[in-house]
Amino acid sequence: MTNSKGNRDLIRAINRSIILNMIKNYGAIARAEIAKKSKLSPATVTGITANLIQEGLVFEKTSGDSTGGRPPILLALNPRGGYVVGLKLTDKEVIAALTDLEANIISKDKVTLSGNTPEVVIGDIVGLIKHLLKTKSVDRDLVFGIGLGLAGIIDPQNGVLVKSPYFGWKNIPIQLLIQEKVNLPTYIENDVNTLTLSEKLFGGGHDTENFLVVTVGRGVGLGIVMNGQFYSGDSGGAGELGHTMIMKDGPLCECGKRGCLEAFIGDPALLKEADEAFRKGLLEYKIQDITQLTTMAQTGNEVAQTIYSTAGEILGWSVANLIQVFNPGRILISGEGTRAGKFLFDPMKEAIKKYTMPELLPYTEILIDEWGDDAWARGAASLVLQEVFKSPR
Ligand SMILES: [Zn+2]
Repeated sequence: MTNSKGNRDLIRAINRSIILNMIKNYGAIARAEIAKKSKLSPATVTGITANLIQEGLVFEKTSGDSTGGRPPILLALNPRGGYVVGLKLTDKEVIAALTDLEANIISKDKVTLSGNTPEVVIGDIVGLIKHLLKTKSVDRDLVFGIGLGLAGIIDPQNGVLVKSPYFGWKNIPIQLLIQEKVNLPTYIENDVNTLTLSEKLFGGGHDTENFLVVTVGRGVGLGIVMNGQFYSGDSGGAGELGHTMIMKDGPLCECGKRGCLEAFIGDPALLKEADEAFRKGLLEYKIQDITQLTTMAQTGNEVAQTIYSTAGEILGWSVANLIQVFNPGRILISGEGTRAGKFLFDPMKEAIKKYTMPELLPYTEILIDEWGDDAWARGAASLVLQEVFKSPR
């Protein structure tokens, strides 16, 4: 008896997920259409959608284009049926966003880290979450959870930060430490994976089964979606593109190895190049941060432009390698480094053309994301939203 009830509950949960996703993906859809497309019985569709309406996740609306007669009633996702908090931890600050069910940002905030021990940083994160929820005074029952994206090797199942490149921490149970302080379901993931997830749910990856996300900026990351599924490796460590080898005995990387991609094209590497140019008298003044270097390139400084074009070419080699390994339908280039624009990407595109087998080249579309600082936090929010739409299978 218990078993058959268990099975019934599971089937109902799966059907609920199918219907909820269909409503999300179609924007607005009639009950009859859901039944037809899902092959579920009209009675099942009616029962489940009644529950979704009651929960506030879905609402009824009439179609605008009535052709005489009564306009059909459509079901649509109610974006304000729930809220999530997405956070991104960098080496210097925490960025947070409160979003609705479509990852639209309702409110955002950030705080500079007041130290670099796990206790202090988690205190900063928790303080920011509480502040964000208080200032927007959202109903706590409608907050589905907290998502945190951060650099490093993460074990998302156990909520453990296995290794942090910026803080030098190892095996910190971050998920639990946050969850017990805010009393909301908490999820953690590598920041590149959270960004990839939001591309899959709401962005450039929503209509393709095989795509990669390459992030450039402070570090260089890779998110992998193949056959519609995330690939995170045997121990969650896949996608460490920044630490693939470019040159034997090359410059020292933060990971401890030499000659990694990141040691050539990560922000700190570019700043080191700029320092070198200043010392040689090629630049008039010392560059303070990466924004300044980007502005210089954009305003015509040739030394800054060369720093970016060299980095762009090296990035192009790596992207060409990825095309050959994965044969993806699309590669999305994202991250704050995309602000460098054509100075980075024109040389990248040339290198991709030059170093990709011509038989494979036409199948991969390369798209460069319009970058906004919110993207990381929205990505982390998607970590929770994924749970809302996930099938229990
Ligand atoms: Zn490395």
